[in-house]
Amino acid sequence: MTQTVTAEQRVQSLPQFMVAEQPRQTLWDTTLRQLDDVAKRIELDPSIHRILRRPERELTVAIPVMMDDGRIEVFSGYRVQHSSARGPCKGGVRYHPSVDLDEVRALAALMTWKCAVVGIPYGGAKGGVDCDPAVMSQNELSRLTRRFTTAILPILGPKRDIPAPDVNTNAQTMAWMADTVTMLEGKAVMEIVTGKPIPLGGSLGRKEATGRGVAIATAELIKRRQGRLSETTVAVQGYGNVGSAAATILQEMGCKIVAVSDVSGGLYCAEGLDTASLNQYAANHPRHLLEGYEAPGVEPITNEELLCADVDVLIPAALEHAIHADIAGLVQARTIVEGANGPTTPEADEILNERGIVVVPDILANAGGVIVSYFEWVQDLQNFFWEEEEVNHRLEQIMVRSFREVWDFSQEERVPLRLGASMLAVSRVAEAVQARGIFP
Ligand code: GLU
Repeated sequence: MTQTVTAEQRVQSLPQFMVAEQPRQTLWDTTLRQLDDVAKRIELDPSIHRILRRPERELTVAIPVMMDDGRIEVFSGYRVQHSSARGPCKGGVRYHPSVDLDEVRALAALMTWKCAVVGIPYGGAKGGVDCDPAVMSQNELSRLTRRFTTAILPILGPKRDIPAPDVNTNAQTMAWMADTVTMLEGKAVMEIVTGKPIPLGGSLGRKEATGRGVAIATAELIKRRQGRLSETTVAVQGYGNVGSAAATILQEMGCKIVAVSDVSGGLYCAEGLDTASLNQYAANHPRHLLEGYEAPGVEPITNEELLCADVDVLIPAALEHAIHADIAGLVQARTIVEGANGPTTPEADEILNERGIVVVPDILANAGGVIVSYFEWVQDLQNFFWEEEEVNHRLEQIMVRSFREVWDFSQEERVPLRLGASMLAVSRVAEAVQARGIFP
């Protein structure tokens, strides 16, 4: 029996700040609009433009799961492969009540651009399940993951499509996925997913990789603006895997983290928050939240106050469309580094550009995760594993090079970084489509 949840109930179950920020247009609309703009700018061949406007393959699956109380719930799951022009498809799997085909499709296209902009040999994909992991047990999540994996397996493979963690999924989720495929195929196929636990062929440095990449992108930006990390103040929206690692590494680099938030609310401290103590607190909280955290000089703030905080760098590292038109005019940060995928609406982006606020776009800023996923896949395929220093060093090389390419190109073209990054990415994908030609 399927438990039906009305749209209204679903909205009620969302944290308050997300309800206020329901997108006015879908993420896929936004993605197409951006692609169309880029196509005009780079005078993209209309045939290639038509190809890139459509995902190559979309799979929708029903996932029946026996819940702990004996009920059977049926969840909806998706895997979308946007483009395999530059290599096997690559992208995470998210578990969230907002997941639908439209969102997954847009996030798959973003992965195509992301892999192209940092020059790793992948196309783009994304997966997701419409569920709320906050109210599910580990056993329920294991059963959901295993059935979802089985349902999308026909289109997966180390040379076809390689999933990874995303919002509300982690190394454990990847372990369940790898184990399911390994059991079904009767041989070890650990390289079918990345972001696995280390004993199963995961890579050192993968867990913090997205946050580390965000920190490297921030440092590159500060350098170009003649700033000093020791004089840089930072606010982080979303203190999950990405936000907490970015904040921790930026603090190590000398920045002052003055504000952080998660779904339970925000914290502000003009003298700077201590990320080690925040991390320890969140690790011991049942839902890994900062709810109830107290320390001298730390005041609670709302999510909106955080987004409008007077800081040098704002890092949105939660969900998409957090910075919308109503907020963009109030943002006081001098720069924004996008830890999340699609955190800024196009309207907000225009306002930020007019106001001279520099935005390092998601496809560049948060590419650290997929870069180290690439390293993990390479290590798995060779059965030869690297030291953490090597992983971090190579990650830094790719982030610094990609940042420079996007920065220089955007300066030459006199366009904002987002447009510059997308122009570079789409040109690279178009080149691959052109070179391959159409089969048959
Ligand atoms: N989910 C991450 C992203 O959006 C990582 C994807 C991957 O490693 O394949 O970039």
